[in-house]
Amino acid sequence: MEMFGDLGGYIRYLKEKRNSFNHNALKLVYILAGIYFIVMAVINMVEDDMRMTVINSAASVWCLASLIISDRIKSNSADAVNLIVFFTVIMSYFIVSGGAEGFTIVWLFIIPAAAMYFLSLYYGSLLSIIIGAVLSLYMWTPLNELGFQYSPVYLTRFPIVYWANVLMCICIFVRVERYEGRQQELLAYANAANTAKSDFLANMSHEIRTPMNAIMGMCELTLEADISEEVRDNCENIHVAGRNLLGIINDLLDFSKIESGKMELICEKYSLSSLLNDVINMAMARKGSKPIEFMVNVDPNIPDVLYGDEIRIKQIVINLLTNAIKFTSKGGVLLSVSARKESYGINLIISVKDSGIGIKEDSVDKIFNSFSRVDTKKNHAVEGTGLGLPISKRLVKMMDGVITVNSEYGKGTEFRVVIPQKVIDPKPIITVHEPKKVNVIYYLDTKKFTADFVKKTYVEIIELMHKRFAVRAKHFIKVEDLKREISSGSYTHLFMGRDEYLKDRAYFDSIADKIEIAVVQERTGYVPVGKNIHNLYKPLYSLSAGNVINKEKISFNTTSATPSNEVEFTAPEALVLIVDDNEMNLKVAKGLLIPYKVKTVTASSGKDVLELIKRQKFDMIYMDHMMPDMDGIETVSHIRKSDDEYNRNIPIVALTANAVSGVKEMFLKAGFQDFVSKPIENAALQRSLKKWLPKEKIQKEQGNDDE
Ligand code: ADP
Repeated sequence: MEMFGDLGGYIRYLKEKRNSFNHNALKLVYILAGIYFIVMAVINMVEDDMRMTVINSAASVWCLASLIISDRIKSNSADAVNLIVFFTVIMSYFIVSGGAEGFTIVWLFIIPAAAMYFLSLYYGSLLSIIIGAVLSLYMWTPLNELGFQYSPVYLTRFPIVYWANVLMCICIFVRVERYEGRQQELLAYANAANTAKSDFLANMSHEIRTPMNAIMGMCELTLEADISEEVRDNCENIHVAGRNLLGIINDLLDFSKIESGKMELICEKYSLSSLLNDVINMAMARKGSKPIEFMVNVDPNIPDVLYGDEIRIKQIVINLLTNAIKFTSKGGVLLSVSARKESYGINLIISVKDSGIGIKEDSVDKIFNSFSRVDTKKNHAVEGTGLGLPISKRLVKMMDGVITVNSEYGKGTEFRVVIPQKVIDPKPIITVHEPKKVNVIYYLDTKKFTADFVKKTYVEIIELMHKRFAVRAKHFIKVEDLKREISSGSYTHLFMGRDEYLKDRAYFDSIADKIEIAVVQERTGYVPVGKNIHNLYKPLYSLSAGNVINKEKISFNTTSATPSNEVEFTAPEALVLIVDDNEMNLKVAKGLLIPYKVKTVTASSGKDVLELIKRQKFDMIYMDHMMPDMDGIETVSHIRKSDDEYNRNIPIVALTANAVSGVKEMFLKAGFQDFVSKPIENAALQRSLKKWLPKEKIQKEQGNDDE
């Protein structure tokens, strides 16, 4: 039993020392055994014993073969098999060639030698010395007469072999000890170097970030000043380069944090619709004027209020979207979000699919490695550090999720992330009130897209969205068919693209009082739409479509006529504060306010707002609902409780991606005056400005009444 215990210990030991010394030690066994057989073959030849010469020569060749095999083998188990085969063949040789003598050799030479080897590896060489001494005493004293009678040749030969074995075992043992010591030293050294590198990276990126933020801030201030076109151009270039540099520094900081095990998830309650709004805004900004379609397919039935690390999920999705946009020059990118119910909440399923350059089959495994960028010949002009995917992969792993990739070179790539999330409130992102009363018609000429991927995806999005909303919907691609259908059917809502709207603008403007119309277009170069028509920015997805469908029910201003999308007034004297934790959202809101000529100040947290309002008097505040630390509602309650009477009454409008019914009451109760849903619609923004800015600061624009 003891022996088996030792064997178990030995196997454990071998496993621990995988790929290390035992491989070399075995090679030494083969070499020494080979030398022994060669010497024996020579002795036999001199003694004219041809049979033993052949057997010993064959044994030495076998040792050589085992040595070669062992050299090519990389795993411990294969090594063990090789060793067992080696001993079996050698033993068989002795038994076959020596008869009773052969058995003697097996028992008295090979088995003790193997025992010495194994025991010395596990317990050190002391046991080999003891075995060597016991066996030598047995051979050299009258004890050997008790058992089998050995010939005098063996009585001298065997003890010599035992002591040779003992020496070999001591050599191996010393080597192993030294090797292990060195290994520990190297490991400690490598760990120290790695920690130093991570600390250095973390410190440096932190240090660089501070002056970088100052550079960016100054640049933004200069951009806001009255400067020449040339200076503006230069400043914008500095700003773009600065933003890229900040992105790289942030990646390095994250990477070094993950490396040194200092990255922690901060799980909080968050709103999925707000998260999606942020990433979509970001992706649209990254896409810029690149001629590809960015499409979004979100299941409206996913619960909205979840528990998890919102910032890190955003980071992962933005990284995948940025890559998809970067590596796609024709066709488009599709972001799909859905969920599967689980016992602990939901599995959030996010997929980012593109019709871009794709990844070669043999490179797919490499893309998750740090600093690894593939196909660099083709992509040399595309910026990147090769850190985005490794960071994403580790973040997903920290959240107990999985990330997978499926790609066809030249055709496109799909990244899929599944993350388990707890559900705080099972209320879905958006539901259509009274879906039975809704009948939607779509006018999107999919033939205008050259890429099959885009054509197919748009049709799928339209179909799926309405299936999930449980409302009736039809899709048309020809204006004649659409007109016929509208005149004969009872449609409540019409969604269409900008090009489609321009095909027969007069007709659509004329039916806008009978059917709710929304024109979906790019933010850049958009065309103004007629009165009573919603102007939606791309991409159209369940949240923006659902908002339009529910409009009458959730708007604060249901009684006032829907205003036109033209700028009706300006207010150059007005000072508006915009609050949002997401930089891109601030930019979007600020951009939308430019035509009204209002002065804007931005803040990115509730705390900043409380400081700012002490120093400046704002005419109104647009406040994001979901913000880390202090959310919009908490900030408003602080403002309403402040000593300053002016601030207690300042109009505050909530900006929220949460458009479920009941939010109106919630915001009013929390001290807000109004709310505008995200994605921000121009008309809604204008309505809120008109209603809440001081009347004396509003200047009517000339010529707008002609529309
Ligand atoms: P970066 O984009 O900064 O180079 P990542 O780690 O995000 O670093 O990506 C690593 C590499 O994986 C990229 O350089 C690119 O070669 C490849 N890759 C990632 N996403 C895509 C995609 N959507 N299509 C094609 N190649 C991609």
